[in-house]
Amino acid sequence: MGRRVRGWTTCIGAVAAAALLSGCTVYDVARLAGDDTHGRDNGTAGSALARDYLIGQLKPIATGLNTAATGDAAYTQAVPGGTNIVAVIPGTDLADQYVVVGAHYDHLGDSCPPGTTCTRDTIFNGATDNAAGVAAALSIARSIAAQPTRPRRSVVIALWDEEEDGLLGSAYFVQHPLVPLARTVGYVNFDIQGSDLLPSLRNTSFAVASETGGTRFQDMVRSAIGDQSLDTAVLSSVFGQGRSDYVNFIGAHVPTVFFTDATGPCYHTVDDEIGVVDFDKLDAQIATSLAVTRDLADTADPPAFAPGQPAATFDDAVAASRIVNRAWADRGRFSAADQATLTRIRADAQRIVAEGRAAFGSADVGTLLGDSAAFVNILTHGTCSGFLSASAQARITAFRQAKAAVLRAGR
Ligand SMILES: [Zn+2]
Repeated sequence: MGRRVRGWTTCIGAVAAAALLSGCTVYDVARLAGDDTHGRDNGTAGSALARDYLIGQLKPIATGLNTAATGDAAYTQAVPGGTNIVAVIPGTDLADQYVVVGAHYDHLGDSCPPGTTCTRDTIFNGATDNAAGVAAALSIARSIAAQPTRPRRSVVIALWDEEEDGLLGSAYFVQHPLVPLARTVGYVNFDIQGSDLLPSLRNTSFAVASETGGTRFQDMVRSAIGDQSLDTAVLSSVFGQGRSDYVNFIGAHVPTVFFTDATGPCYHTVDDEIGVVDFDKLDAQIATSLAVTRDLADTADPPAFAPGQPAATFDDAVAASRIVNRAWADRGRFSAADQATLTRIRADAQRIVAEGRAAFGSADVGTLLGDSAAFVNILTHGTCSGFLSASAQARITAFRQAKAAVLRAGR
């Protein structure tokens, strides 16, 4: 296990002392996804190291949400097998209403058996999944704490444990909430951020499930997206495939938006390291989600949970068609079989859009759902660096060479 470093400073101070790092977000990802946290599996020393860092970041800007405990423990919620991190920035005139901003900080750990020296990389660093998402949540907390006007509603920062074990940390929270969920106007979830699925999708990201807050919430999310050059496609909840903590909040009837870059070829491999993180993209994602969070915290007209929405809509088809057409530029990167799948998906999306909104029906919903699953599947094929832009690939190669030298030298 890694050496336990005590007394980490907050990001601002540490960055001033670390000339190689350009900002808090880079620093957060470097700390969380560094080899010394050994992949942040719940219940490990590496997880505790990450947690100490995160609590250290939150303490100057937010209060511990667990009022049954004191000191650092007030920033934690024990869950069976793990520990959630929970903090709050108190609101002003609507302080008894809440916005929850969440991201899981756990990941898959280290496959090197304890007591063994491994000369290949065995650490699942989870830089995009989900150190970058945690960095986004922290960045929102820092920004709101630094803004001259306090939010009207209280903003909860929740960093989940055991997401990789079946969304367990967030499930425990909604079963044992530390703030009333009936007075929670929205949940903002991050899982996999700063990730490029293909060079052609470098400027593409996803905002999933905002229809859970009806057209009011969709309008808020679209407005925040419209202020950024990043093309964040608004998609219905089902396109998140139930694969992140957002589903637990929908289950608790809280309007929810899930910001994600979906799963690419680096997903759940030891190569998901800081070198693959697109920090320019992450900055735009933070700006978008900060605007949503601040709007939720301040609006006189908050969204209400909107049950019974259709699984998929014509707007989903329009977004899917736009994304697949963009990815078409990279079709040469896929195998022949996957190119055939991509060709079929593209034709389906083009047909559904061409037939128009009035013709959209349940058969189209089925086609869209099947095709989106197939698209996500072919994107995860291939090697991690093989699907990245030339600059990202050069970054990863340099990073791997440096890391291999460290491993050869022993750790
Ligand atoms: Zn994740």
